[in-house]
Amino acid sequence: MFILNETHDPARRSWIETANRAGSDFPIQNLPFCMFYRAGQVARPGVAIGDTILDLVEAAELNLLGEHIGPTLHDCIGTGLNSLMRLDRGILSNLRKQLSNLLSASGGEGEGHRERLLVRRDDVALCLPAAIGAFTDFFTSLHHTERGGRVTRPDNPVPPNFRYMPIAYNSRASSVRVSGEGVRRPNGQWRKEDGTVQFGPTEALDFELELGAFVGKGNELGSPIPIGSAEDHIFGYCLLNDWSARDIQRWESFPLGPFLSKSLSTSISPFVVTSEALAPFRVAALKRPDGDPAPLPYLHCDSDQRLGGIDLSMEALIQTAKMRDSNEPPFRVTRTNFKEMYWTVAQMLAHHTSNGCNLAAGDLIGSGTASGSADESRACLSEIAAGGRPVDLPNGESRVWLHDGDVVVFRARAERDGCVSIGFGECQGRVLQARA
Ligand code: CA
Repeated sequence: MFILNETHDPARRSWIETANRAGSDFPIQNLPFCMFYRAGQVARPGVAIGDTILDLVEAAELNLLGEHIGPTLHDCIGTGLNSLMRLDRGILSNLRKQLSNLLSASGGEGEGHRERLLVRRDDVALCLPAAIGAFTDFFTSLHHTERGGRVTRPDNPVPPNFRYMPIAYNSRASSVRVSGEGVRRPNGQWRKEDGTVQFGPTEALDFELELGAFVGKGNELGSPIPIGSAEDHIFGYCLLNDWSARDIQRWESFPLGPFLSKSLSTSISPFVVTSEALAPFRVAALKRPDGDPAPLPYLHCDSDQRLGGIDLSMEALIQTAKMRDSNEPPFRVTRTNFKEMYWTVAQMLAHHTSNGCNLAAGDLIGSGTASGSADESRACLSEIAAGGRPVDLPNGESRVWLHDGDVVVFRARAERDGCVSIGFGECQGRVLQARA
């Protein structure tokens, strides 16, 4: 775990005014990384601060980030943050200090180079933060598992392995897309209630509100990452929408698990909030219900039990085409908190590599639908509408599943008394009509 330092100091302010506004996702205490490009240029690494982005390559060329980081940042141009992600924690922590000092209102050297260093976020395009070699999706909310299981296994909704291991499957990396890209309603095969099997556009398109984790330093094939050092291998976090076609999923998932119902597309937010930025918001791992087994030794360590949770409130909103036409804002349908997850991210990583499976910088890990215990924290439509009650929207429309033209927006904020709260930016995507 990271120790708090001057970069987390709540009194610290930036010479970039918009970073100091209450409610900004990107105050000087955050400093999330991204990949951005100006019209006609290749993508380059940056850091979000207020409503602007700091151009890291320019900062390195001005010698504002120390001597050694320049070549790494150049490696990122046109490729992604992978070279940065695989650096040692000490180097990354040092870079964070340099960036914080550069942007600090008290003597930050950057202000004199404002024109060269900063671009307005609205003037550039953001792209995937890394070249994602692999995408693994977990299933680590007990509440999501329970509510889903009640439909298919009412007597025994939680599978017997759930409390022993963080369950996951290898998902599809090539269809991970950055926030803002449209999501095409997929065609697929499923069985209708009358027993006929057909192929056509899904009639049950859903979102799944998840946290994404980017692997930093990887491991060699055959060398598991022990639970005690698993945190050191997480570079940072983003929001992740694991779009799901429930009718296709129900039909195809036995016996090998989901396939085309999930690989249609996955959206992630463009900013990677680093593990170090989230340090003030770490909490104890979830206290297991009485009678549940303790984690096996390879999934247990004291520091992870003490600080493996993340106090992060997350929400999902829907804006239909009709709402957009009448300038109505997106409507919140879910509000949950990541601290309610049954397994920690370190446990996911330790389990993932326990057989020697190798992870690499830029690999993406999805937490699974982050549902909490309360009804308002059901983090996908299949949970919300499971009782047959659709989501009622303020303009009189309602939704059991997503319609074409609907936009789904995710947001997240970490807040704590005595700290400056930080946000994740948005992860959003619009549902596009299926291909004929
Ligand atoms: Ca999922």
